[in-house]
Amino acid sequence: SPEANSVPKRELKSYEDFGSMGIKMELLRGIFSYGFEKPSPIQKRGIMPIVNKYDVIGQAQSGTGKTGTFLIGTLQRIDETKNHVQALCLAPTRELSEQIFNVCSALCTYTKIKPYLLIGGNSRNEDINNLDKNTYHIIIGTPGRVFDMLKNLSLNSKNLELFVLDEADEMLSKGFQDQIYEIFQYVPKTCQVCLFSATMPEEALEIA
Ligand code: ADP
Repeated sequence: SPEANSVPKRELKSYEDFGSMGIKMELLRGIFSYGFEKPSPIQKRGIMPIVNKYDVIGQAQSGTGKTGTFLIGTLQRIDETKNHVQALCLAPTRELSEQIFNVCSALCTYTKIKPYLLIGGNSRNEDINNLDKNTYHIIIGTPGRVFDMLKNLSLNSKNLELFVLDEADEMLSKGFQDQIYEIFQYVPKTCQVCLFSATMPEEALEIA
């Protein structure tokens, strides 16, 4: 869009290894144990802007490491000594949410960060109970169930610091737009927003 084009382009600093990003020890251990030795190109440039609290649009082809980018950035941002939900990550399907959750769980194995998978198909009552009794730092899920839990106040969004949309082109297309808009009403105005996608059509960019 004209607005996007008028934003001055800045070279993003490229970090050649995870160690040079200043990532906390426990998270670094998770990254290496998961089998990531060196960051992929989008990870070299995309993790630190998230850590440094910028709003980010990350666009790269499928299979280039976008999931790792936003998860590592998000996990580095989370303060595990604070017992409240700090990050919300939405994906268009249950399967994708599950995949993201599994990678997230693996990456944060050695940290005290607690992720929670919030998707339709799981028991609604169990979600309400879990969100009520436990402290989670990061919620990963699909828009329907997430909105449900926001609306019934089981999911407290008042301390959200980071809102991530995976497959942002799809999340901001006609099918999901309204739901994302409704969810966004619960997101604090100061919250950082990160969008990741293989494509960024005009329509999605405009809403972004
Ligand atoms: P995208 O989200 O862009 O589709 P993924 O984050 O799912 O891509 O990564 C694609 C594949 O590459 C996955 O199997 C993932 O485990 C692997 N991968 C991602 N980053 C790295 C890395 N730094 N080192 C090794 N493998 C990686």
